This record gives sequence, structure tokens and C-alpha cells, in this order.
Amino acid sequence: TAPLSEVDPEIAQAISDELGRQRGTLEMIASENFVPRAVLEAQGSVLTNKYAEGYPGRRYYGGCEFVDVAENLAIERAKELFGAEHANVQPHAGAQANVAVMTAFMKPGDKLMGLSLAHGGHLTHGMKLNYSGKFHEVAAYEVDSETGLIDMEKVREQALAERPHMIVAGWSAYPRQLDFAKFREIADEVGAILWVDMAHFAGLVAAGLHPNPVPHADVVTTTVHKTLAGPRSGMILCKEEHKKKINSAVFPGQQGGPLMHAIAAKAIAFKIAASEDFKARQQRTVSGAQILAERLVADDVTAQGVNVLTGGTDVHLVLVDLRHSEMDGKQAEDLLHEVGITVNRNAVPNDPRPPMVTSGLRIGTPALASRGFGDVEFAEVADIIAEVLKQGAAGQADLEPLKARVAQLTADFPLYEGLEEW
Ligand code: PLP
Repeated sequence: TAPLSEVDPEIAQAISDELGRQRGTLEMIASENFVPRAVLEAQGSVLTNKYAEGYPGRRYYGGCEFVDVAENLAIERAKELFGAEHANVQPHAGAQANVAVMTAFMKPGDKLMGLSLAHGGHLTHGMKLNYSGKFHEVAAYEVDSETGLIDMEKVREQALAERPHMIVAGWSAYPRQLDFAKFREIADEVGAILWVDMAHFAGLVAAGLHPNPVPHADVVTTTVHKTLAGPRSGMILCKEEHKKKINSAVFPGQQGGPLMHAIAAKAIAFKIAASEDFKARQQRTVSGAQILAERLVADDVTAQGVNVLTGGTDVHLVLVDLRHSEMDGKQAEDLLHEVGITVNRNAVPNDPRPPMVTSGLRIGTPALASRGFGDVEFAEVADIIAEVLKQGAAGQADLEPLKARVAQLTADFPLYEGLEEW
């Protein structure tokens, strides 16, 4: 019963310092969010003690009556939220959900076609050091070098030439919506399974701000912790006909006991995601990203060689293009870090700089929207970022006034107020 601060003061300090960091900076990593208190509570609950191998009603352990309630709620809410016939809520993370899908539908050596990592795809979509690329032949599609967009006619031609077993549509860094109906048509034409990985934009789908892939795809995977704002974890949605295959690929295929505290937290996140508040938050998220993109394509910014891929965004992130700037992605990331804005550098398609440096930034708005930011605050953030990038590209940064503006925003929007006393 001793508190953490007594049992392990070093870890208690690290957690407290991390809380201070989250409170005192502007979090703009596109894959991150702030979970609500209810999700933190469920994750810190006694459900972490329970072994529950199997599925609700068919467990390999006794005493599962209450965790069954939690998992059934998570399943039913997920199905309802996305209009899916079946949901498996057990994947520990997005990568685990993706491995389960690949093992369910492919044999080692079968061909997977996904967006190249260097063009915004995820490493689980065929990168050579990942399971997906080690155990499968890979045919990677790319974005068009002029427009930065996925050209569906080229995808079709490549699919006809490559004849993949599975096509994955989804991304980690792409600022536009995907044409799921067209992907379906192509998959049907070549006899491939269509898998959509909606990890990044699932929250937008839940809010009705992005087309829903579920009616088009054989199987859909997602993380729960990005725009969906739930616990760090994964999920798989599929048609009833694939239910057995998917369930058995997750357990016993590649996982043991499910994380019941995380599954309860997923149920909570799905309940919240069905609310009007959540929808309004996703609207502020997209609108904030659009305000940022507009500011970064203004003349005073582009004059410094800074630009935005595809000229704007339809989603929760903006991809900054620094190929024509003296400043590289690493330098830009470091400068923003200095003023208190956290982003990640990101390779742009056909990036001339090495992967540890890059010529791009990925900047996302979900966490700040969860913190309460609306158009006014996002306009201020956009202006601060524009000033940092302009000055950085010109090689003469005066960061003190910008730091003060960031500090004002963090003070105006307190995060996890009173958390120490919860
Ligand atoms: N799929 C996509 C599209 C992602 O962007 C990510 C994470 O960034 C994942 C899967 C993997 O999720 P996780 O980090 O939870 O394994």
C-alpha cells in the first residue's frame, strides 16, 4: 500500500517531470494525444492483475466475469462507432494488430503492396527490417513526385503488374484523404485482400470528418491512441466472415493474455468518441491543421524556402517541406523544441537528406485540440511556428519573444489540473 513516491522515488520523479513537460510545452507530434482522466484511471486499475486468455465467454482462466463485461463493451462500442461487423480489441498496439492481419491473410512469401515508408507509409506496411518486409515480398507504391498525392491510376497499373495477395491503404505521414472505393475496385480487379490501416485518421472517421474505410475493406486496423485519444493500443475491425481467422491470429496466433486494463480504457475511449464533444474536438483538430498550413504557405514563409506538401491538408497534420531551405528537418525540430513546441522531423518523398536529418517536419494538431485549442489559438501557434521557421531558414533566430508566446498559451490552457490529488 506504500505510494509510488516511497517505493520508487526515481520513477515517481520521471513521471512527475513528464507531466511537467506535457503541461509546459505545446505537443504537436501528429501521432500523440492527451487521454481523458477516465482513461488514465482505467489503465491504473486492478484490471491489470487479471489473466484472461481467450475471448469473452470462452476464457482459459477462471474469474473472468467482470473483465468479460469490459471487453464486451469495448467490442460492441467499436462495432457501433465504425459500423463494423466484428471487432477484436485485444491487440497490444498498432504493430501487433498489423502482424495479426498479415498472418491471418497471408503465408510467408506472399506479396504485400503498401505505401513506401519514405513516402509516408508505416514500417509495418513492408519496410525491410519489419516483420512485414522480412516475411513477405513487397511491392511499394509511392506518391506522385509532382503533386505529392497517391495517383490511383498508377496504383492500379502497379497492382496489375505485381498481383499482390494483399493491398494496404493507410499512412503515417500523408495530408490528404484516401479513395477507399478505388482501392476496393483495384483489389477486386487483381484478386487481393484489401486492408486499411486507419491508425492516424480513425478519430476523424469516428467523427464523420473522413470517409469510413470499413464498408470497403476486408479488414481495418487502427491504433487507439492517436486521433482516437484512447489508451496506447490497437484494434482490428472486419467482416463477420473473417472473424474466426482474425481472432485466432491475435490469440493464440501471436499474443497471450490481453491487457484488460487497456481494453477497459478502449471501451471508455469509444464511448467518448461517439459524443458531440468529441466531434467538435475533431473539427477543431482539422481546422487547426488547415490554419497552420495556410500560414505556412504565405509569401513571407515560402520566400525562405519553406513550404507545405500538397499545399495544404484535409486531416490532422501538416507536412512541412524543407527541401529548398538551408535549414534541414533536424535543425527545424530543434529550434521548435527550443521555443517549447514538440514536433518530429520527417522525410519527405525523394528526400535529398539522410533519414536522421531529413528535409521535412510532421506537425499535428490532435493533442492541442484535446487541450482545448480552437481557431484563435491555432492561429497564434501557426504564427509562432512560421516565425521560428522563417528565422531559422534565414539563419538568425531570436527565440525569446516566441518562447514567451508559447508559455502564455500553455498557461491559458492548463493540462490535467489537480492530477496530483486525483
Ligand atoms: N500503423 C500506422 C499507420 C501508424 O502510423 C502506426 C504508428 O505510428 C502504427 C500502425 C503502429 O502503432 P504502434 O506504435 O501502436 O505499434
